[in-house]
Amino acid sequence: MHRAFWADAVADEIEARDPEEPIVIKGGVSPSGVPHIGHLNEVMRGYFVAEALRDRGREVRQVFTSDDRDPLRGVPRTLATLDWAVVSLGETENPGALGRNLGKPLTNVPDPFGCCDSFGDHQTRLLGKMAEAMDVPIEVVSNTDLYERGEFEGVTRELLEKRDLAREVLSAYQEKVDEEYVPFNPICADCGKITEAVTGIDLDAGTVDYVCADIEAGNRTIEGCGHEGTATLREGKLPWRFEWPAQWKVLGVDFEPFGKDHAEGSWPSGEHIARAVLDFEPPVPMVYEWFTYNGDALSSSKGNVITVDEVLSMLEVEVFRYFFTKPPKRARDFDVRTLDQLVDEFDRFEAIYFGEVEGTDQERAIAERAYPMTVDAVRPERVRLPYTFAAVLGMTDDEGLREAMARRAGHIPEDASERAVENALARVERARTWAERTDNEYNYRLAEDLPDVEVDGATAAALDALADEVEAGLEEGEDVQTAIYEAARDEGVEVGDLFATGYRLFLDEEQGPRLGPFLASLEREFVVERLRRES
Ligand SMILES: [Zn+2]
Ligand SMILES: [Zn+2]
Repeated sequence: MHRAFWADAVADEIEARDPEEPIVIKGGVSPSGVPHIGHLNEVMRGYFVAEALRDRGREVRQVFTSDDRDPLRGVPRTLATLDWAVVSLGETENPGALGRNLGKPLTNVPDPFGCCDSFGDHQTRLLGKMAEAMDVPIEVVSNTDLYERGEFEGVTRELLEKRDLAREVLSAYQEKVDEEYVPFNPICADCGKITEAVTGIDLDAGTVDYVCADIEAGNRTIEGCGHEGTATLREGKLPWRFEWPAQWKVLGVDFEPFGKDHAEGSWPSGEHIARAVLDFEPPVPMVYEWFTYNGDALSSSKGNVITVDEVLSMLEVEVFRYFFTKPPKRARDFDVRTLDQLVDEFDRFEAIYFGEVEGTDQERAIAERAYPMTVDAVRPERVRLPYTFAAVLGMTDDEGLREAMARRAGHIPEDASERAVENALARVERARTWAERTDNEYNYRLAEDLPDVEVDGATAAALDALADEVEAGLEEGEDVQTAIYEAARDEGVEVGDLFATGYRLFLDEEQGPRLGPFLASLEREFVVERLRRES
């Protein structure tokens, strides 16, 4: 059956397998840098599938694994505090905490901020906060917890028993897999690093012997301490290629979305390992395309990141949720400069849902399904200020004036409830933050007192003529714009000079947004008096 909304098509695929309830949907991240909006794919893609299934009466559990037993492989340049301030490592309380502990599980590395039990714990908490900010109910699962509680013990034992088979399957995907390869990496009891050289396996005792040898990690060598020791199956971790299928098995995962990198790497081997080595059917997969941020790849190490907290200072949560309703297989850019377009799209999507805007059949079908999943409650009575208009209102801090301007411009209906008005005006602060952050054409402040402006006779006459026109009832922004041109022409003033004087009078700046629509949005009496240089 054709489904308009991609999440319904995925839900069909899951249901076709006749899964046991609760249906388990997973996402996951190795939490080493600043959690950013790219990581939200791991939460939001699963969320819409979960909602589609819940809507069909299914019980769903959405889990999110923090792969916090992963070794610290490098020192991130920037980190986020629990309040989402992105800071450089040097600004933390304990900057040496990371560099001194390379190669150790993230949960055994001290928290540079000193606020959590470990660096891994700090990072995991941020991931949880990220989902919370998006209002998505997920269970954050710490991988280290799963190991420590023995949840992985059975599957680890199984992999060690079948290590020849495991090695054979993986060697088709990874070159470094040789005769010595063992699918378990113990933690060195002496230096705390994750080791790779297993020298003996005793499954009766449930232990492995190891030597803490040097490890090649990317283009660097993490030195081992040379210690020879014995570890239990809880004191180590599975290599990622095995850990991922082990998570599916232990958590009973029915569906997992993942990025393109995994699609070419650990998914094909993981799926093969699940079937051939661990004897179970892997989850329904879904590959999503990474989106870029302002045209470049999101990268914690290159500093090209934006946190969910920053996004939600500019967008209502339902608008940002809407961003993730778009088809996952198409590459797209999250461009802060054009956030107004995203908001306009959302407003249209919402209006289509309520039947206020026509829309195509396809648009209607998607809005019908996806819109209720983007909002906390479907409320027909609501008011949305166009985002760029909200940015204009953000030029004043005077809340009364903001509301008066919105009413005057016809964006707030007479009979709108207090709650709807309040919600509508909440967009102003967000649009204000956007204008400041991008320093765009809305990043101006309304001059609330008359600036000190010198005008010559002809300019004064043009301003007075414009004031008369406005006073006589000009309402539309384009009409005011035309009147400015006419006043300049009639009085023999350079039109550019008249605009500059206008910006000086209203913004105390040389330039600003399109003057006509801007003046039309302001209170008429205020505009008239200001044009006459009276107050
Ligand atoms: Zn912390
Ligand atoms: Zn060691």
